[in-house]
Amino acid sequence: MRARGRSSRPENAISQAVRLEGVTRTYGRGSQAVTALNDVSVAIPRGTFTAVMGPSGSGKSTFLHCAAGLDQPTSGSVRIADEELTGMDETELTHLRRRRVGFVFQAFNLVPALTVRQNITLPLRLAGQRTNRGWLDEIIHRVGLTGRVDHRPSQLSGGQQQRVAIARALVTRPDVIFGDEPTGALDTVTAKEILTLLRGCVDEAGQTVVLVTHDPVAAAYAHRVLFLADGAIVDYTDSPTADQIAERMTHLGAWS
Ligand code: ADP
Repeated sequence: MRARGRSSRPENAISQAVRLEGVTRTYGRGSQAVTALNDVSVAIPRGTFTAVMGPSGSGKSTFLHCAAGLDQPTSGSVRIADEELTGMDETELTHLRRRRVGFVFQAFNLVPALTVRQNITLPLRLAGQRTNRGWLDEIIHRVGLTGRVDHRPSQLSGGQQQRVAIARALVTRPDVIFGDEPTGALDTVTAKEILTLLRGCVDEAGQTVVLVTHDPVAAAYAHRVLFLADGAIVDYTDSPTADQIAERMTHLGAWS
């Protein structure tokens, strides 16, 4: 363990992958204004799996977009690792996302004309970085795609395509991977495999994962579940079962 006081930076700046402080995001103006996030403060430690749940319209997408540097809060501060996002322009945010953030979406978002290997290494090419062959092989092995690297996405099942997307998210060694309903398009058996893989990235490789979902089964893979309602984090629970999450959700209003 790191000895206290030996770092010039505060301990919490190092151990937190993502930190939101007083984040508010308002859309529109005047009487039309909608407060999608209302003074949200949360710290997400490195090497943890966090799920963000809430009814439709509670602010989950806005939370993900602000926390991942895809959108700027109206007020408040967002940090990824030790970098403050507030005040960055679009070019700086793009660079920050390439270096520090991985994304896994429901729709996989693979490039059809590229092979599995080319899809996985695309973020490195976009960032002008060389591919470390040993690291690439390790990731491909981790996601179970050895032997498939020369296939095109159309030759793969949905679950395999999402494995490519996870490998693509891992390849830059990001500080955090954000998932937006990554199992929403998969059958339940395949969804479990993908969630187990994501949890393994956290437990075995120390990756940080933040998953936005409305599915209690998916959220039950998290160390911590944050509950959003009306743009605010109203509760959290650690290592819950899917039933406990579902029970909590019924008290938060309508399901998505
Ligand atoms: P969720 O992902 O939980 O469904 P969102 O973050 O998409 O919630 O939305 C939170 C609130 O902000 C909702 O009331 C939604 O209608 C509103 N909202 C989201 N995006 C916009 C936008 N671009 N313009 C106006 N209102 C928006």
